[in-house]
Amino acid sequence: CGIIGIIGKASVTPLLVDALKRLEYRGYDSAGVATLINGHIERRRAEGKLVNLEARLAQEPLAGTIGIGHTRWATHGKPSERNAHPIATDRVAIVHNGIIENFQELKDELEAEGRRFESDTDTEVVAQLLTSMLDRQMSPEQAMGKAMERLRGAFALVALFSGRHDILMGARRGSSLAVGYGDGEMYVGTDALALAPFTKRVSYLEDDDWVVLTATDCKVYQGHTEVKREIRQSGISG
Ligand code: GLU
Repeated sequence: CGIIGIIGKASVTPLLVDALKRLEYRGYDSAGVATLINGHIERRRAEGKLVNLEARLAQEPLAGTIGIGHTRWATHGKPSERNAHPIATDRVAIVHNGIIENFQELKDELEAEGRRFESDTDTEVVAQLLTSMLDRQMSPEQAMGKAMERLRGAFALVALFSGRHDILMGARRGSSLAVGYGDGEMYVGTDALALAPFTKRVSYLEDDDWVVLTATDCKVYQGHTEVKREIRQSGISG
């Protein structure tokens, strides 16, 4: 229901949790964060309120300078730690808002390839689909471009790739997603409110946009074509 992603220089977990607090107004039943530790995806997730996630993080802190966070409002699969986002494989972690309408068709196809699902969410087809493409030697960029052609429904999502401290990717169709421009740090989130603690320089993505963020830049694509999205000054104070 609420999404945040940060690629930068500082330890991101406290920043991710801060942004999730700003998205609490949207409602949620569980929450989670993922970062990269030595190239590997590490997650902390909890059912219920953000205080539960904070308690998990106090027990088992999560370092990392690139990460994603989510507050979930379950549509497919009951609220539980297992179904809380980020949903991950060994290669990619995903936070997702909305619904993947053709998830059953994609799940059947991916299971027929021998892929085993670990959650009851529609979201996991995105993680497994990207993983299947990465396993076939596609780059994250090629995989995301191709995934946009396969996914049906209304969604916003952000992806973190194992072994890739240098990029975060996002995509939207129907659900909102905005990119925030910082100083040696870049952000992507549901709205300007989530990004307000970090930056006022925001650009709103349009339907079917997918993006590649580095710590200093953001490239926006429609299909295979690069497009420009205006950077605006958000009026919301941090
Ligand atoms: N459909 C996804 C799920 O049930 C995402 C729900 C949301 O927007 O939070 O996990």
